[in-house]
Amino acid sequence: VVDLGMPTRSVLTTCAYCGVGCSFKAELRGDELVRMVPYKDGGANEGHSCVKGRFAFGYATHPDRQLNPMIRESITDEWRETDWDTAISYVAEKFRAIQARHGTDAIGGITSSRCTNEEVYVVQKMVRAAFGNNNVDTCARVCHSPTGYGLKQTFGTSAGTQDFRSVASSDVIVVIGANPTDGHPVFASRMKRRLREGAKLVVIDPRRIDLVRSPHIEASHHLQLSPGTNVAMVNAMAHVVVTEGLTDSSFVASRCEGFDEWAEFIARPENSPESVESITGVPAEQVREAARLYATGGNGAIYYGLGVTEHSQGSTMVMGMANLAMVTGNIGRDGVGVNPLRGQNNVQGSCDMGSFPHELAGYRHVADDAVREVFEKLWERPILAEPGLRIPNMFDAAVDGSFHGLFVQGEDIAQSDPNTQHVQAALSALELVVVQDLFLNETAKFAHVFLPGTSFLEKDGTFTNAERRINRVRPVMVPKSGKDEWQVACEIAQAMGYPMHYDHPREIMDEIAAVTPTFAGVSFGKLDELGSVQWPCNDKAPEGTPIMHADEFVRGKGKFVLTPFVATRERSTRRYPLVLTTGRILSQYNVGAQTRRTANVAWHPEDVLEIHPHDAEDRGISTGDVVNLSSRVGTTSLRAKVSDRMPVGVVYTTFHHPVTGANVVTTENSDWATNCPEYKVTAVQVAREASR
Ligand code: SF4
Repeated sequence: VVDLGMPTRSVLTTCAYCGVGCSFKAELRGDELVRMVPYKDGGANEGHSCVKGRFAFGYATHPDRQLNPMIRESITDEWRETDWDTAISYVAEKFRAIQARHGTDAIGGITSSRCTNEEVYVVQKMVRAAFGNNNVDTCARVCHSPTGYGLKQTFGTSAGTQDFRSVASSDVIVVIGANPTDGHPVFASRMKRRLREGAKLVVIDPRRIDLVRSPHIEASHHLQLSPGTNVAMVNAMAHVVVTEGLTDSSFVASRCEGFDEWAEFIARPENSPESVESITGVPAEQVREAARLYATGGNGAIYYGLGVTEHSQGSTMVMGMANLAMVTGNIGRDGVGVNPLRGQNNVQGSCDMGSFPHELAGYRHVADDAVREVFEKLWERPILAEPGLRIPNMFDAAVDGSFHGLFVQGEDIAQSDPNTQHVQAALSALELVVVQDLFLNETAKFAHVFLPGTSFLEKDGTFTNAERRINRVRPVMVPKSGKDEWQVACEIAQAMGYPMHYDHPREIMDEIAAVTPTFAGVSFGKLDELGSVQWPCNDKAPEGTPIMHADEFVRGKGKFVLTPFVATRERSTRRYPLVLTTGRILSQYNVGAQTRRTANVAWHPEDVLEIHPHDAEDRGISTGDVVNLSSRVGTTSLRAKVSDRMPVGVVYTTFHHPVTGANVVTTENSDWATNCPEYKVTAVQVAREASR
């Protein structure tokens, strides 16, 4: 911890790491940031924080920051520093030249969940209005896009149902494919408080996460299923509810539709816990007990993470959980609900802001004439009615030669996206890669233009957390690069011939509010007055909406959707007999670009491979040995840690360090509806390379 003495002033802002969205007072002495103090009145954190938000801010002033724009003709050339005007003109001319040669659709952009709502909004507007296509996607593609799809199909909007406070009223908490202790520590504390008060806990996860057994907490059931079998599990639980007469009939009759067809499907013998036992590996009686507990134990709440979404049936599983909540009446009041624990600080916001290729701000499809008309009138540009390319489609099109230029906002796709070799081939094939970031990251190795971004300490705007809470992000210091990040997209758009200008990010939020019904009541003034609001915030709910779907679902009636289980095509073989699944650790964050440049790296200096003692013994592996991890797409080396947290046949690692590069081995398999990568299931082999 760096403590530079007594502070002389403070600025109230929001943590830029995870989707909990903790409020902090950034305390300064002169212009020097002394410390981050968790804010006691923060709506999301109530004065609590974790080791990332509290201590891992040193990256913002790290000497690795690249503060001037840079250009190079070829990725084999040396970088040449330049001024902003030259860099902006260069980018605009190159994009225009590519479009002249290859067509309007030959370029696109990726927005970042690390950036503010306002910064994301202007990038998607730049793509739609200045590029003239819908080739914009967000990094949520590779994490929570199935949440967006699944919750919209069933409930009518792409967001969690509850506020964090609601967990204090839960009687049964079901945690599926999430590790809140490491991933969302401050919310985990609230959850643990409720569990210590006596709420029951069901954990559905292949890994024995800390929550299963921690001081004064013991899960009633840990359903330690095989990776890739979530849908079979949730169907089996719903089967128990329907066939044992545990349905909340009055809720279903008054609030939902599609029940009869769904009930006929779910009651089929193939969905019973006994039938799927050989698929999930979980004894049927445990599944029956857990289902009965959730259905009859009082307020039942589901919290889930990327262990749900990052599968070939990620969207199906989200809808399966929604079915389970509806059939038991666990929706629309305190203590219940279906709640995604969002990964990045603004993953909810980056989705809300219209940076999916098929949706404009507020999750409205580009094919909707009335919606397009609203934007076209304000933007004075036509918007295409056909969806654009998703991130994986951009990569494929680049390799195929039909996509040639990419703007990447604050996202290290060369490290974070699956099948690194394919991503690198795509980036290498592009004529123009523009990276806007704090550091020369892995993706910048393939870039022709580098534009310096701003850290959260330099940003002025808003983040939206996992409970739809819109928090203010206030600047603690002036942009080190001399330019606000939102200005960059505006200036590229202007240089390409589309007038786009704002004097202040509050004007961007005013525009968002003007075109997005769920944000109609949001303004910087209101946020400064109330501290934060949860969308929808409009005439009907001027102070926001903590609990959604209270009287009716956003889509009117909640919709039961059939969710047949389909096994992933990723199969263990003689050559690749183990299954790899990936996750995160408390002190580090995603690709580690920030946390690796802070003292937090001392807690996790390298990624390690957890392997069960039986699998380790079979291979002569001990803790500390360097092992080779290989799949059908790639191979990497890392140290082993023998651990019985994983079941036999399953190995686990994190992806915080580029040297290890876990995504070298993950495959191109993805969710059928959204193309979210199947990070959680990769058939691998592990072999000892050397002992420590
Ligand atoms: Fe930041 Fe998340 Fe930690 Fe809160 S819980 S301090 S938002 S990383």
